[in-house]
Amino acid sequence: MASVDFIDVRKSFGSHAVIKGVNVDIRDGEFVILVGPSGCGKSTLLRMLAGLEHISGGEIRIGERVVNDLPPKDRDIAMVFQNYALYPHMSVADNMAFSLTLKNAGKAEIEAKVKPAAEILGLSHLLDRFPRQLSGGQRQRVAMGRAIVRDPQVFLFDEPLSNLDAKLRVSMRTEIKNLHQRLTTTTVYVTHDQIEAMTMADKIVVMQDGRIEQVGAPLDLYDRPANLFVAGFIGSPA
Ligand code: ADP
Ligand code: MG
Repeated sequence: MASVDFIDVRKSFGSHAVIKGVNVDIRDGEFVILVGPSGCGKSTLLRMLAGLEHISGGEIRIGERVVNDLPPKDRDIAMVFQNYALYPHMSVADNMAFSLTLKNAGKAEIEAKVKPAAEILGLSHLLDRFPRQLSGGQRQRVAMGRAIVRDPQVFLFDEPLSNLDAKLRVSMRTEIKNLHQRLTTTTVYVTHDQIEAMTMADKIVVMQDGRIEQVGAPLDLYDRPANLFVAGFIGSPA
């Protein structure tokens, strides 16, 4: 586990500023949700933390390390995407073990990591199946399993439930929260869905147009929204 700090983080694409000075402190083990309308910069912020996008200004720290110039593989993070990105020709077990295989892990080490992860996620009986033989929820669990076996300091989720139907989305919220309670790994989770944010987060970061409007626990935002945008977005009565 590790803390994550964004310090006056900025990002421009050409002359287009999309992240305009963001400050957030995320504590060890915290489940933090970045929420805001489509295009406000959530994915860009997450991708900078992951090292998939260069930072134009400011500083990002994971634990005590400034990671601005570290390649993704050295950041000790694992990311779960909306579209799962599973390898269709590989079994569930091989999909989950892929990052370990890349690191030349031995068979015993791979088993020692994949088995417990599969158990946590209820995938033990599906390890020999292929992605096309799985439901949407099962695929999403494999994508999470792939992240878990890497034993990262920080989990990143970018709209992981957007492709699931409404009912499954609700049950996967609970699963992801249970997973977090069990592993207590620091988690940064992006969504445009207010309900997801209000029901899952320890702390919510509300964004609009590349800036942070408010940071707080769900009830704080509901009871004391900082402005009309937050009130409207969260749906609080202010
Ligand atoms: P969100 O995830 O909140 O929907 P994004 O972070 O994807 O928002 O995008 C924020 C803004 O940055 C948008 O205006 C988007 O068009 C722009 N943007 C994102 N990625 C790129 C890119 N690679 N090149 C140019 N503009 C980009
Ligand atoms: Mg996005």
